[in-house]
This record gives sequence, structure tokens and C-alpha cells, in this order.
Amino acid sequence: MIKDNRIKEVQIIPLEVKSSNWDQSTVLIKVYDEEGRCGIGESDGPTEAIKAYLEMKTAHGWQKNINEILKGRDPIEFVTNYNAMYNSQIWVGRRGLGLMAISGVDMALYDLAGKQYKVPAYKLLGGAQKERAIPYATLYPSIDVNSQNDVLLEEYKRLIDKAKELKFRAVKFAIMPNEYMNDRELVKFIYKLREILGEDIEMGVDFLYRWNDLYDALRVLNRLEDCQLFFAEAVLQHDNLEGHKMLVDKVSTRICGAEMASSRWELKDWIQKTKVAIVQPDVNRCGGLTELRKIAEYADMYGIQIAPHGWKTGISASAGVHFNFAVTNSEYFEYLHPDLYDSSLRRNLLVKEPQLVDGIFNKPQEPGLGITINDELVESLL
Ligand code: MG
Repeated sequence: MIKDNRIKEVQIIPLEVKSSNWDQSTVLIKVYDEEGRCGIGESDGPTEAIKAYLEMKTAHGWQKNINEILKGRDPIEFVTNYNAMYNSQIWVGRRGLGLMAISGVDMALYDLAGKQYKVPAYKLLGGAQKERAIPYATLYPSIDVNSQNDVLLEEYKRLIDKAKELKFRAVKFAIMPNEYMNDRELVKFIYKLREILGEDIEMGVDFLYRWNDLYDALRVLNRLEDCQLFFAEAVLQHDNLEGHKMLVDKVSTRICGAEMASSRWELKDWIQKTKVAIVQPDVNRCGGLTELRKIAEYADMYGIQIAPHGWKTGISASAGVHFNFAVTNSEYFEYLHPDLYDSSLRRNLLVKEPQLVDGIFNKPQEPGLGITINDELVESLL
């Protein structure tokens, strides 16, 4: 039995930074036990809204303050705690913001329980199913989305060189729809990216919801057959589950999606109705590691992989590493490397985290998520 292991306090700390490229701000979640140990997690979403949501005044049994829900509970009872959070906020937070908020708290509980029992988080998720975890690097250009094609290509080339230097085994090109690139040019552009990347690195493309019309998407995917894509992501609009099903039936490339879906209930719909090859619920938005674990097991029964979306700071990146170790049906997972995306919080929020070595992760040895926060930086942002 661990001494004074009960939850004493949950702190919600929005960290705001200016960014011209996507939103780099985050919500740091700290969960303290009676002994003073601290678990760290992170929620991705509108920072002030997540803080306000978790700190809301208790109105009734279905709309409760997070500290009132968790105070005195045992952090290692992950499913009990998840159910308590979900059921005590179900009046306001069954989906969307509510699940984003819970995700960060749930993540922090794995870090805290890991520190209490001195075991890495992947063991708390059921144990390692593999000897090494293989991430894919998302190559997302940090320049104006409406740049000319040759300027864009140069930026991707810079990112490819860096990914090769880091020995990534797989990459994903995030290609924003832009006014200079029609579908015909897009096909040529992707073949050029394959040529620069070479044949030895797996290649995915995130189309970032480019098409409304299934047949426009089909025309491009068919012409990309020789490009040997590992997957095609966000091809159609997120909620168009029927369209995804038709796409899956008509192309040989793995179709993936569901990065915006939260909870096992929404993922059940995705899995049953679309049969996409890979689902991508987010480690810091879908409900947390506890919910992600259930989603992975459900997907596995349909022969579907899970490759969690992971985009923010090293906290979520580390959670993604532990999660990948703990599941069988996840060949690759998204990993945001600090050298590949220009974000001060991604670079500096942690002073210690699991390290990529030659494009892979070995089993983390440190307790919890194996991370240490840069307290000075947090202090400076308050
Ligand atoms: Mg995406």
C-alpha cells in the first residue's frame, strides 16, 4: 500500500503562447496526492474554456467540479476515475470540450500512479506488447499555406532531410488545400515528395479534409496507386461516414480518419460504419489513455489499427509513446518531434522525456510518463 496516495488537488494551468502557425498554447494539468507527488497531463483545446469547464461550480450530480469528483480517490483506479469524471459531467460534457478536458486529467493520473508505484505508464496500461515503438513524423510546413508550389516543395524538402537525419522509418505529409494547387497538380506534387523521400521510408498523406465529393477524391487516390502510400488521411469531411465507407470499398490504399472523434461511442460508429483501416483518436482530446485503451481493443476486434493523433507538447508525445507500447494493433503512431515543428512549448516545456533513438523508442524505464516539467518556463507564463 502506498502511503498518502489519495488525490488531494487537481490544478488546471492554461499556458498561452503566441503562434502564427496553428495553436501552440496548451492546458497543463497537475494532480497532486496527499504526499505531495504530482502527476502531469495535458488537454488540447481552447485553454480558458477547458479551465472554466473543469473548475465549474457543482450544480448537481451530472455537473460537478473536478476537484469534488476526484478528491480522496485512488489515482490507480483509472476506469473508476474515468467513469466518475464522465458520469459526473455528463450533463455538459459527453462529447467535445468535456472529453478534451477529461483527457488531460486522465493522462495525469497515469503519471501520478506511475510515480507512486515507481513503474512506467505503459505497464499500467497493461504492459508492453512489443520491444520497440515506431513513430511516424508529421511533416507540416511552418510557412504560409498559400505559398507557391515550388516554395512549398522546398520547405517539405527541408523537413524530409531533417526526418532522415533523425532516422524516422515513416513520415506523413500534411498537405493543406491551397489556391495554387488543383487536384492534377496535387498528384504531381505527391509523386515529387515520394521521389525526394525515397522508397525505404513509409509515406502517408494527410489531405486535411480536401474533398466534399467522393469521386473527386477517388480520382486522385487512383492516380496515386503507384506512389505506394501507407495511408490516406482526412480525405473526406469528418462526419461523412457513408462517404468513408464507399471510399474504403473502392481504393486499395488504407483510408484513415477519426482524429476529431471523441469517446469510445463515437469511435464505435466510425469503426462499424466505415471500416477504415486505421482510426486516429487523439491522446489529449478523445477522453484520455483509459478511453483510448478501450477504443484500441474494440478496433482490434475488427482488424483495424489505431494510430493516435498526437500534437501539442512533449507531454502528449510521451503519452503516445507509452500507449503505443501497450497495444498490439498500432504499427505506427504520430509523434511530434521538436526539431520538425517550430513550437517553443514543444521544445521547452519539458526538461526530460522519452528520447527517440535512431527513429525508434525503446521501452521507457522512468516512472509514470517519464517526464519532468520546466517549472521556470511555466512560472514565466503565468
Ligand atoms: Mg490529421
